Order: sequence, then structure tokens, then C-alpha cells
Amino acid sequence: MDDCLFCRIVAGEIPSDKVYEDEYVLVFKDIDPQAPVHVLIIPKKHYDNVLSVPADDDIMGKINEAVRIVAEKCGVDKTGFRVITNCGEDAGQSVKHLHFHLMGGRVLTWPAG
Ligand code: AMP
Ligand code: ZN
Repeated sequence: MDDCLFCRIVAGEIPSDKVYEDEYVLVFKDIDPQAPVHVLIIPKKHYDNVLSVPADDDIMGKINEAVRIVAEKCGVDKTGFRVITNCGEDAGQSVKHLHFHLMGGRVLTWPAG
């Protein structure tokens, strides 16, 4: 989608601090990090949010592979981390392109806000 910030990052029209990339997924550092490790895992294809993924689509499996790779790469696979997706207004989803926050590198409080 032309007017989508993350689609524009995927297209290379807006720069990002890339951590990992494959055919399906892009991972880059959050511009406003809330933890020592705070990256966004996004599908290269546009989905509005987690409810927009068809049941027979395997993108969630690709995302999970990226979680494993990036958690190891960022050194939080042993210490622990959190994966969050905000969906819709009450969750405060500000970018309408499916994304997963992977956060770690400090003790994370619970419940999340
Ligand atoms: P959410 O509130 O769950 O929609 O998360 C959107 C996230 O995108 C926020 O944590 C922002 O800091 C982050 N963000 C917004 N613009 C950019 C950008 N250009 N590059 C990296 N992260 C961004
Ligand atoms: Zn998009």
C-alpha cells in the first residue's frame, strides 16, 4: 500500500536500521526503543493486523522463524524477551501494517500497560 509507512520501509523508500531480512519478513530497530532490545518484525506483504491473516497463510510460521533468529542474534534467547502485536484502537496500534514488537535486554514488567 502506497501510503503505508512499513510498506515504504519494505520498499526501501524510507530508511530503517535492519537487523534481519528474508524473502517474507523484515526486522528493524524500533525508532523509539522501550528496551535495550526493541525490534519490529513485519511481513513484507501488507496485512492490516493479526486478524487480517488468512487461515491458510503461512506468514505466522515465517514470523516465528524470524523470532528465533533475531532473539539469538540480539542475545536475548537465553535471558528472555517478549513478543507483542497491538491490534486495533484499544491496544494502541499506531501503524496499520502487521508488526510484532520483540523486546528484551531488561526485566519486563507485567501486565503490559
Ligand atoms: P504500534 O504502536 O504497536 O503500532 O507500534 C508502532 C511502532 O512503530 C512504535 O513502537 C514506533 O516507535 C515504531 N515506528 C514508527 N515509525 C517508525 C520508523 N520509521 N522506523 C522504526 N520504527 C518506527
Ligand atoms: Zn503496509
